[in-house]
Amino acid sequence: MTVTTREILPTPLDYAGLDRTELTERILEQKAQRNAVILGHNYQRVEILEVSDFLGDSLALSQEAADTEADTIVFCGVHFMAETAKVLSPEKTVLMPDPRAGCPMADFVTGQALRNLQAKHPDAVTVAYVNSSAEVKAHSDICCTSSNAVEVVETIPEDRTIIFVPDRNLAAYVQDKTGRDNIVAWDGYCYVHDDLVLEELDRARKKHPGALVVIHPEAREDLLAEADEITSTGGMVRMAADHDALILGTERGLVDQLRERYPEKTLVPLSGAAVCGNMKMNTLSKLAWCLDHGRHEVTLDEEIRCRAERALRRMLEVSGGWTAPTAEQEELELAGVRPKGCGCA
Ligand code: SF4
Repeated sequence: MTVTTREILPTPLDYAGLDRTELTERILEQKAQRNAVILGHNYQRVEILEVSDFLGDSLALSQEAADTEADTIVFCGVHFMAETAKVLSPEKTVLMPDPRAGCPMADFVTGQALRNLQAKHPDAVTVAYVNSSAEVKAHSDICCTSSNAVEVVETIPEDRTIIFVPDRNLAAYVQDKTGRDNIVAWDGYCYVHDDLVLEELDRARKKHPGALVVIHPEAREDLLAEADEITSTGGMVRMAADHDALILGTERGLVDQLRERYPEKTLVPLSGAAVCGNMKMNTLSKLAWCLDHGRHEVTLDEEIRCRAERALRRMLEVSGGWTAPTAEQEELELAGVRPKGCGCA
């Protein structure tokens, strides 16, 4: 193990004055000392992805968080993602480089507002997109991601009304794919994907006529209707490995990352302006400060955490990422004995 002897500086601003090499060295040293793992969402800055142990979309990173043997998880993403890591790994310390990095889409719905809607539809099943707070997940029956939303909804009996929060565009996509007419969608959206427009797509197509158009399901319906493929960011990463030319309708951080990986390919953003300022609040200097100081720690009320875990675990069972508890484990859980990797009945 490398032991750092470097001076710990007081504020993130002091770290901003250090060069990239020193920041990277500090991060790697402290990571080893804390037995930490760095999870980097696909929309992070390239320099953060370079020091991350795992890159991926929210589902992939949720699973890494649940499986890791590390004592500390540093989540470079937005707040609900770090909360998800804490929900799945309550015994671990979860840190965020900047606690103000929230997700405006997740902020569209609160636990109380969701309960008010549920009171109007008492028999409905609530599906929460993972881009939601732990409190909202705790009041939901099951979670979903953009990769498994259709699969999750298909497990719900057809005669049950579904409350789908918070993304209206993902809800419309799921409605289209499943043919269900009983989905009550929350009126939330991701400003990055909702702002993608047909004019930009037309321009990109004219410039790159042979490229396949791949769009994230958080985009609007009229844009999705023009896509050759609709898939999550994880799906886009897989497609980039197999195709020479893609127009990618998502946050451009992912496109920049893929261009670095495949410089010989034509990988272009549908819109150069599709940037999530919230994701970009994490910087290399804040990450170095966060590891040196052991801050900012994410904490959750245990009852909320437990109930949010139940909704997440149901989703992971559907997507094959988590083994359902055996009858014996259920019995232990009911008796209050907490098996490794899950927390509540
Ligand atoms: S890209 Fe959209 S959904 Fe993702 S964190 Fe930013 S605002 Fe939220």
